Amino acid sequence: EISEVAAGGYIRNGRQGRTLAAAQQTIHVGGEWRAAASGATRDILDPADAKPFAQVAEGGTEDANAAIVAARRAFDEGPWPRTPVAERAAVLRRVAELLVRDREKIGLLESRDAGKTVEEGCIDVDCVADAFRYFADLVIGEGPGRVVDAGSDDIHSVVVHEPVGVCTMITPWNYPLLQASWKIAPALAAGNTFVIKPSEITPLTTVVLMELLVEAGLPAGVGNLVTGPGATVGARLADHPDVDLVSFTGGLVSGIKVAQAAAVGVKKVALELGGKNPNVVFADACETEEGFDTAVDQALNAAFIHSGQVCSAGARLIIEESVRERFVAELARRAEKIRLGRGTEDGVECGPLVSEQQRDKTEAYVASALAEGAVLRSGGKRPEPSDVRPATGYFYEPTVLDQCHREMRVVREETFGPILTVETFRTEDEAVALANDTEYGLAGGVWTNDAGRARRVAGRLRHGTVWINDFHPYLPQAEWGGFGKSGVGRELGPAGLAEYRETKHVYQNLAPKPVRWFAG
Ligand code: NAD
Repeated sequence: EISEVAAGGYIRNGRQGRTLAAAQQTIHVGGEWRAAASGATRDILDPADAKPFAQVAEGGTEDANAAIVAARRAFDEGPWPRTPVAERAAVLRRVAELLVRDREKIGLLESRDAGKTVEEGCIDVDCVADAFRYFADLVIGEGPGRVVDAGSDDIHSVVVHEPVGVCTMITPWNYPLLQASWKIAPALAAGNTFVIKPSEITPLTTVVLMELLVEAGLPAGVGNLVTGPGATVGARLADHPDVDLVSFTGGLVSGIKVAQAAAVGVKKVALELGGKNPNVVFADACETEEGFDTAVDQALNAAFIHSGQVCSAGARLIIEESVRERFVAELARRAEKIRLGRGTEDGVECGPLVSEQQRDKTEAYVASALAEGAVLRSGGKRPEPSDVRPATGYFYEPTVLDQCHREMRVVREETFGPILTVETFRTEDEAVALANDTEYGLAGGVWTNDAGRARRVAGRLRHGTVWINDFHPYLPQAEWGGFGKSGVGRELGPAGLAEYRETKHVYQNLAPKPVRWFAG
């Protein structure tokens, strides 16, 4: 029920019966749920109608400090870093089971908070459960360390991995629960303690995840949560001297600030930043009707799923000149037909943008593109209100901009909205040059029926994920992250676990003798 969601404690409804008075106690420190030290709260808006539907604690620096103290104590004195791997993995698996149990409720909550469809919200929950299962399996499957041949029977030398310590995590609003899980699951699997700060715009499912971690048996202090703004809580998580690692997912500007703050204490830093992702379509992919239909359909999906508010959105269509007109005409026709509305309504394919600010930004990018000579093929405006689309919601039509070129702001900067730009090429070299002409390097797609060309182009793209004849899928067992300004480090896969570990070489002399370097 939405009213229970509004009470901030629907997960507990019927079990622990969280009351309205407890609704603002969304800060979790040392095993206790609390209000903000200042008593401040924040209304959480549903982007489909801009009305508040929940309230959370508006934490500040004091709350961040308390959470870090709790995480530090749990790491230094608590059982978690020394808990056998099998027991840690069992907690992670229980979290996955609880996510499956509450899938529909959490999917609905994510839909209302982030403006995505309920179906997308539920798929996110499935992916989150997969991440918890994957990291549980990964640590269970590992050996006790790597024995190194020191060249002597008297020496036993082994390389082991240990948790980094207190990890802080700062997450964005587009995939709130998913991004949290890509950090929390490996951090816990490796034996760390953490403090997480979700985006102030979409904190609700992270609060729920914290509740599930508690229910799954995570010891007090191991997982801590502070809801609140980036400039205060986020900044403190990045610069606090007792923090060992900061993992940040968000925009480039905030990411640079986090890295600068962390550098002062020489903390480990993981950054997952933005993207300006090319989707390269060769004419041969469109030779058959089926090929054409698939490439158009997937270009639409690449650009407009979740209204383009996806770090890996295929926002740049880079298409071979000979098929451009037919392709773009069909793409624009289908873009016009995307059913926009409240994510909880049946038949709606795409929800609103997450905030007024995000829609303003989208409108400014479209205006600048048109002023710079782009040709509007679809969208370019707010849709008419309807019974599934309240007039107050932050809706914007999927927008296709033709005749774009690399000097335009809309081509160079991440818009993070429902905007697809079209550029053309004549040769393979030109296609690769355009696809790599970005300061980012998160992901890219290439569409061709020529297997040799597919491999050649994939090899030349300077992006962390390359899809051949597909767009968007990721696997928890494969690393995710960016080249260039798309970030530092990787999430998911074995490297996503390694981020949360220190490596230690233990060198044991079984037959110690004096070295006699110094004669005296
Ligand atoms: P944002 O940078 O505005 O905010 C991200 C988080 O950082 C929020 O929790 C915010 O409160 C916090 N923050 C803001 N200023 C801070 C500061 N000075 N110190 C510490 N924390 C601070 O980003 P957003 O608008 O929430 O998210 C959109 C961005 O996230 C896009 O650029 C998108 O590409 C990126 N993103 C990247 C990935 C990836 O995997 N690479 C995934 C999702 C989103």
